[in-house]
Amino acid sequence: MNVPFLDLGVQYRAIQNEISEAMRPVFERTAFAGGPFVGEFEDQFARFCRTRFAVGVGNGTDSLWMALLGLGVGQGDEVITVPNTFIATAEAISFCGAKPVFVDVDEATCTMDPSRIESAITSRTKAIIPVHLYGQTADMDPILDIASRHGLRVIEDACQAHGALYKGRPAGSMGDAGCFSFYPGKNLGAYGEAGAVITNNEDLANAIRKFRDHGQARKYYHDIIGWNGRMDGIQGAILSVKLRHLPMWNEARRRVAAHYGDLLVDVEGIRLPEEADYARHVYHIYAVRVQDRDEFIQSMKTREINCAIHYPVPLHLQQAYRHLGYEQGAFPVTERIADELVSLPMYPELSDEQIKYTASSARELLMERLALA
Ligand SMILES: *Cc1c(COP(=O)(O)O)cnc(C)c1O
Repeated sequence: MNVPFLDLGVQYRAIQNEISEAMRPVFERTAFAGGPFVGEFEDQFARFCRTRFAVGVGNGTDSLWMALLGLGVGQGDEVITVPNTFIATAEAISFCGAKPVFVDVDEATCTMDPSRIESAITSRTKAIIPVHLYGQTADMDPILDIASRHGLRVIEDACQAHGALYKGRPAGSMGDAGCFSFYPGKNLGAYGEAGAVITNNEDLANAIRKFRDHGQARKYYHDIIGWNGRMDGIQGAILSVKLRHLPMWNEARRRVAAHYGDLLVDVEGIRLPEEADYARHVYHIYAVRVQDRDEFIQSMKTREINCAIHYPVPLHLQQAYRHLGYEQGAFPVTERIADELVSLPMYPELSDEQIKYTASSARELLMERLALA
């Protein structure tokens, strides 16, 4: 049996007719760059996230960058985030002219450890970006509390957490802005590149709307120097279709996770993902931890089970961020996670047979190890 890490084709085949129907009006109205289909999706996504505004942009990296710019983060500022994330979180900070300042993550949830934030705050700190990694939100209340006491902005990187909840509140809706990616493999994925910023701040929504469209409110009259950061009309229409299915897909991901959990809970040598009591986890990634991770992944691969690693090198140890001057050992929890993490196959349509085969293979491999030890 083959178990892909992710299979976007099986999902497409299930909604093929809806997608085709949604495409026709986009082509007929030739509404390709921004336009009414993006607007419709924005309204629906804002409602889904329970915020006043959603602004569609070109991708998730742009959504982070534009949210930071729109909140006034710039040259010489510092923004606190985590080193256990995809590099886009830090790139967005860097491309504002600001400096990423890392704090370690919580061992149980792999998200920002709020107890580390205050000692990282300086007179230059402008904002905090917690990352809702793997589909689970960071512990937002203490983060929001610290931010408000120090006059800092909070931008949620919700690129892996579409539909996740924190104490009943939607991911992305709690800070000054929430940033989403609709990269094809995300829980809500476009058929190309797309992203969005959600916010309750009307000035911020308007600033990003203007910025993403070359700084113009009226065609060819440019109030500010902006950028081309629009979402495609085609992606808007596709995302409107897929948003209707997202709650079901997230439920299916939770069922896959529960099934993995049942099958692996008594296996020695594997640490399963923990769901915090505040969280409704939507399992973008099912991240387990094992020793000798690379060997484990190789052995799974010989059984045609495809795992992944999110992420093998923490940001503070990446070549691109060497100039920040962090050393190995600076963030021990993040570094441990980076050494041990294995993302098991995870998508809503994963079959019971595939889940059982993956879990029993993991069990066998880890038992063999125990026997050899
Ligand atoms: C995917 C992702 C991004 C970037 O989104 P793109 O649409 O690929 O630009 C940013 N942050 C995190 C945590 C992500 O997973």
